[in-house]
Amino acid sequence: MSDCLFCKIVAGEIPSSKVYEDDVCYAFNDIDPQAPTHFLVVPKAHIGSVSEITADNSTVVAHIFEVIAKLTKEKGLDSYRVVSNIGEQAGQSVFHLHFHVLSGRDMTWPPG
Ligand code: 5GP
Repeated sequence: MSDCLFCKIVAGEIPSSKVYEDDVCYAFNDIDPQAPTHFLVVPKAHIGSVSEITADNSTVVAHIFEVIAKLTKEKGLDSYRVVSNIGEQAGQSVFHLHFHVLSGRDMTWPPG
């Protein structure tokens, strides 16, 4: 999508601190980290949120979780949180599917 921030980051039109990239997904550090480790993993193809996952695109999500498992292992993170906000009331501010990976501090439950 031409006006999507994360599509522009994936395309390299907006700079980002890259953590990982393959044909399917792109991972980069959050610009406003909420934990000592805070990166985002996004599909390269535009999907608006978890609400738009269907049988036609769900393999992308399985792949992203494989990547999260790989990256957190490589970084030696044995405790971390994966979050995806869906909709404004839940805190979604960028409407391109993304999974936050947060680690390195004590976390509370339920989230605010
Ligand atoms: P959401 O609020 O949709 O769950 O998550 C969006 C995330 O994107 C936020 O944590 C926010 O800090 C991050 N973000 C917004 N704009 C940029 C940007 O230009 N670059 C990077 N690296 N992260 C961004």
